[in-house]
Amino acid sequence: MLATSFTGTLSERHGNAVERIPTPQRLVDWLAVSGLSVDSCTTAQLDLARELREAIHAAATAAAIQDALPAPAVQVINDYSAQGRAAAILTPEGKRRWRLSSASGVEDALSVIAADAISIIAGERDGKLALCASPTCRAAFFDTSQSRTRKWCDMNTCGNRQKKARFNANQRKIPRSAE
Ligand SMILES: [Zn+2]
Repeated sequence: MLATSFTGTLSERHGNAVERIPTPQRLVDWLAVSGLSVDSCTTAQLDLARELREAIHAAATAAAIQDALPAPAVQVINDYSAQGRAAAILTPEGKRRWRLSSASGVEDALSVIAADAISIIAGERDGKLALCASPTCRAAFFDTSQSRTRKWCDMNTCGNRQKKARFNANQRKIPRSAE
């Protein structure tokens, strides 16, 4: 999911937080792999991206625990959604692609992400917002599993870490044999 992977660019929010878009170029790179290629990004635009990211995080977290949506976050998401001029384009292969209009395209890309967040939070998609079970993470993620019982935002990070922690705990329980 575009919007929740975007909020995941700040990971371990309740532990030692890791900023995965520390520079404008890293945001450009992230947008490119997410199907939203932009030409350039300024420091000011990176700040805009982070503002939107935190608003989505706050709103998605509230939605996941069925809390009232925080009004300031909703306002930010709506503002960003409205200000972009991205166009959905159908490719000959039948895929959707985004065409960004402005010179740099960052605001357009952010509007696509904001609109994606709106559709997830509004419950338009087949899936359920949930919070990662890792106490140092607690990221809001979109669970599209059949049973809707996914526990971690990402099996490769939080899921694996949890598995390893459990494995180590079990290892410690096994008494050492006499050597
Ligand atoms: Zn997690």
